[in-house]
Amino acid sequence: MGKRAQQKRAAKHAKQAKQRKAAASRSAATFATVAASLPQPTSMDDILFWITATPRGGFADSYATVDDAIVAAEKAGGVLSCFSFDESGEYEQTLRQDADGWRYEVALYPRLGLRELVKTSWLDADDRDQAVQQLRRAMAAYVPESLRHPGLEAVQRPSTTSVPRIGWAQSVPVAGMRAWEDVRLVEQEMGLFDLVPLADGPDGGLCWGLAEEAFALFRAHGLSARACARCSAPVTDRHPHWPGVLVSVENEFGPVCGHFRPGGESPQRVGHVLDAAQDRPVGKLTGKEQKVRCQHCDVHVTEQHPDWPGVWTESGGSGSPNCAVLGAGADDATEYDLVDCVYPHVPVGADSPAAAAITAAKKVGYFLQPRLRSWAQ
Ligand SMILES: [Zn+2]
Ligand SMILES: [Zn+2]
Repeated sequence: MGKRAQQKRAAKHAKQAKQRKAAASRSAATFATVAASLPQPTSMDDILFWITATPRGGFADSYATVDDAIVAAEKAGGVLSCFSFDESGEYEQTLRQDADGWRYEVALYPRLGLRELVKTSWLDADDRDQAVQQLRRAMAAYVPESLRHPGLEAVQRPSTTSVPRIGWAQSVPVAGMRAWEDVRLVEQEMGLFDLVPLADGPDGGLCWGLAEEAFALFRAHGLSARACARCSAPVTDRHPHWPGVLVSVENEFGPVCGHFRPGGESPQRVGHVLDAAQDRPVGKLTGKEQKVRCQHCDVHVTEQHPDWPGVWTESGGSGSPNCAVLGAGADDATEYDLVDCVYPHVPVGADSPAAAAITAAKKVGYFLQPRLRSWAQ
């Protein structure tokens, strides 16, 4: 497993544990404004984090000086971008020539729960072009007034996949800057970096549950922004792997709700629900269901599990609908742009809406193909 995958996996586990705790204790009280629910630096850790939260690497890894990068940008037709990430966030640096000369832009992209909310809202949309504009407006409104700065805007930047890349960006002229240290000094003054804690979700940091206010804000901008009533993850039923099935993205569980319930000898896996009233006792297989083998992992699967109507699930054990978890293997930018999700079982010689959807989705590049069997269990 790559370093990035390890980081993501560790962050996910920490997040899920905290999410379950947060969901259990979340108050139904609403705030007067969304801004009131967003974080302000209150501890020394927060303050240190803000001071140091500028992207490392990026252009400086590839070009010795700013002028070298500009030469490369000229060769590239006037725009040169570099995607990078570190523990503080996901960034893109861009050198772009406009009428007044070269500008250096930094974009900050949402990650974790906020990224999931952006991507599930976009997947849910009937009109995805319109959804991009709605997402930009929602992301602009997401920034509390106290952190808004002139020149700071919610942007869409070119994506490596068909999934849009949306974040916040700010730029400065690079005239007079030669060394990357000069750029760093200017970066530290950028209001953009005040948004770093926001990019993880309204509670900041790696461990949180996305607040209901964030969903409400996205809905107020015309987006679907649906949350699971049990685990509070952003969900969509239009993921190309899982047509008609509620799934979360950037999550190795996909259609399996993070809220596991005990039942029988092994933990039963239940799906996400949009309404707590839909919650019901875990169903059981009788053992007499029709079974076929999965063409990828070879386990016996059935389409008749009472908890997973229309979904091929393992006919024994914990009845998992998940065949395999997506592996790492793309560059950082592509991995950011993909809609991560686990793979469904695909039956040998039987109809599978998922198989047809996967075939279609492969053509538009929603996801990586490598599957790591060891992650599936
Ligand atoms: Zn759930
Ligand atoms: Zn399988």
